[in-house]
Amino acid sequence: MLFREGEKAARLSAFVLLALSILKGIVAVLSGSIALLADTIHSFSDIFSSIAVWAGLKLIQKKPSEKFPYGYYKAETFSLLTVSLIITVSGALILKESTDQLFEPKGVSFPVLALTTAGLSALVSYVLARIKGKTGLKIGSQSLISEGQHSLVDVYTSLLVVAGVLISQYGYFVAQVLVGLAIGVYVVKVGLWFGKDSVLVLMDACLSPQKAKEIREIAESVHGVKGVHNIRLRKSGPVSFGEMEIELQDDLPLNKAHMISEEIETKIRKQLKDIESITIHMGPAVKERIKIAIPVLEDKRLESMTALHFGKAPYFAFVVIEKGQIERVYIRVNKAAGMTQKKGIAVSHLILDQKVDVLLAGGVGEGPFHVLRDSSVQIYYLPKSVEIREAVYMLNQGILDRMVSPTQNHEKDSRQ
Ligand SMILES: [Zn+2]
Repeated sequence: MLFREGEKAARLSAFVLLALSILKGIVAVLSGSIALLADTIHSFSDIFSSIAVWAGLKLIQKKPSEKFPYGYYKAETFSLLTVSLIITVSGALILKESTDQLFEPKGVSFPVLALTTAGLSALVSYVLARIKGKTGLKIGSQSLISEGQHSLVDVYTSLLVVAGVLISQYGYFVAQVLVGLAIGVYVVKVGLWFGKDSVLVLMDACLSPQKAKEIREIAESVHGVKGVHNIRLRKSGPVSFGEMEIELQDDLPLNKAHMISEEIETKIRKQLKDIESITIHMGPAVKERIKIAIPVLEDKRLESMTALHFGKAPYFAFVVIEKGQIERVYIRVNKAAGMTQKKGIAVSHLILDQKVDVLLAGGVGEGPFHVLRDSSVQIYYLPKSVEIREAVYMLNQGILDRMVSPTQNHEKDSRQ
């Protein structure tokens, strides 16, 4: 239970900050140091950010329920928004208290006590920064790591108080006021920054274009993926949910398609740890340019009549279609036509050499059927002998049926 450790660190931080702000508050009132008062308000508002981190870590461990199927992650964002309000208001309060004294700065009573308290505060902040930073790294919690960095800045604000009190001992009372103002500006900035961050998350803004790019690269690297589109990510507290579309070969069996999407998801979750889930929509790849092979009886370009028998056809026509229009036609002699053995396989390889996407034929025997299908050539059944132009038209109109199994006894059936 790693997150428990993070919870413990955040809870410790909240309690220590509470004790520290009470101590600083008492000394600030006793000494009348405006710089120490500013830092007290600051520490007090910091309690809430520790509580928010603690709540976030607690919520990550809560399993999604029927009522909250996406988990409780957004509660962290929500609490961060509340915290940002508290912090911003505290910053404004610090600024007000400091400006009130700007034109009549006061000195410090009990300077040694004030200095010791500010020094102790710096030391405590440093220890808290170390604990939160180390635990954050160990459990991989970004919010805890940020909290650690925040506490490190708190060390400097307390040191500023030390400097302000020291300088005011030499009669430059305004130094304290300036420290108060600096702390006020810093606290307002932190508050607004938290606020902006949480509003963006609540609005499902795209916060990491870089992550989307990485996801695209992972998906494209998976064998069988022909295209990747519409990657969308949204943050939910400490985790992200995503959606994407992929293009696959259109006659891929469902189990293979599913395997591909599983592989993508596994790789993404392995590389990007904060992705809670990614939904992958699968669709057929749309090719704008395809090449069709058609067995033909003669070499009369688009007017050539198609041959119903695949292996014995004297010629093969190759038609390139771009966006539904015939762009190019060329005809090759079927050198395998006269072979007595394995003719079908030899013809299949002639076709594959031309990098064909689609074959139109009256029948295709078992051997060539599998050779072509394994190379992702789509085979359509052409029921009668027609001109090439007509055959392509039929294909474009979606009239032709896909051949899903080899033609039985097609040697006998073929009429040439
Ligand atoms: Zn702080």
